[in-house]
Amino acid sequence: MPLTDKYGRPITDLRISITDRCNYKCVYCRTGTDGPAYAELTFDEYLRMAHLFVDLGITKIRLTGGEPLLRNGLVNFVRDLAKLRTANGTPPDIALTTNGHLLADLAQPLKDAGLHRVTVSLDAVEPDLFARITRVPKGFDKVIAGIRAARRAGLDPVKVNCVLLRGFNENQIVPLGKFAREEGVVVRFIEFMPLEEDRAWSPEKVVTLKEIVDTLSAYRQLVEISHERSETAKKYRFDDGIGEIGIIAPVSMPFCGQCSRVRITSDGKIRTCLFSVWDHDLYELMRRDATDADCAVFIEDVIAKKEARHHIGEPDFVPASRTMVHIGG
Ligand code: SAM
Repeated sequence: MPLTDKYGRPITDLRISITDRCNYKCVYCRTGTDGPAYAELTFDEYLRMAHLFVDLGITKIRLTGGEPLLRNGLVNFVRDLAKLRTANGTPPDIALTTNGHLLADLAQPLKDAGLHRVTVSLDAVEPDLFARITRVPKGFDKVIAGIRAARRAGLDPVKVNCVLLRGFNENQIVPLGKFAREEGVVVRFIEFMPLEEDRAWSPEKVVTLKEIVDTLSAYRQLVEISHERSETAKKYRFDDGIGEIGIIAPVSMPFCGQCSRVRITSDGKIRTCLFSVWDHDLYELMRRDATDADCAVFIEDVIAKKEARHHIGEPDFVPASRTMVHIGG
């Protein structure tokens, strides 16, 4: 019986942020001057949390940050996560979200340790524009090498995330569509959400699902394909069957009704929604020598209180208590 919130949504996906440090300063995420703000736990502490959640019915674990590849010991942590067993006796589905800068050397060891799939952020396929977005010089070639190494290692699927910001990189829609076709990766466009550090979001900056579909269709016809109920992305293929595109549209087409996610921040707090205005301190409970049974009751209570939905763009919108880099996307 999976964890279920009070709206009847089964909660099956856990995201664990293992650091809020990042080696990129993407314009839609960070100020460029602020650094990490929260503590990091030991991998044993995250492992205990993962174990608790898997015992409660979590079947998918995504490691994120900040930039998760900055943490030494990640490969061993993945190996330990792969030893956990879900209710049907299989390991959890283990995924990673990364900016890809350090992936080229780590893709194979991570795959060997039990990582199943990877999502790499790539907001432009032009090196100069990529450097202006990430505010780091000469990263582009490293990320491309990381994506290719992930494919070679057999991580499957390799997904590429692109956040579009009007006036900045919406000219990358078609080039990234071509990239999906040429590189055999799933390219996913994400609508810009008000989760950035410098609170620069406005509805006008969001490039919507409809615009993305129209732009790609003018290049080559897109055909919608089916997706799992809890999947965030609407999925498409080009009409010749080559190149998969996903569009994640939390702003223009919210999918909160199907949300199956819960997050743990790098400092061990549970967050039930990206837009939560509070978090729940699982780490503090563990520090006070709570038993696994105590922790399980705490987790079930927290999940029951999961928010119904976000309020992006509505007059009553209250900014989340943390920004994306400090939550874990
Ligand atoms: N450092 C890793 C990376 O770059 O993928 C993992 C952490 S990053 C916060 C996770 C994802 O959140 C990335 O795909 C990033 O593009 C996305 N993201 C960050 N800020 C966002 C925002 N304001 N709106 C939408 N997506 C955002």
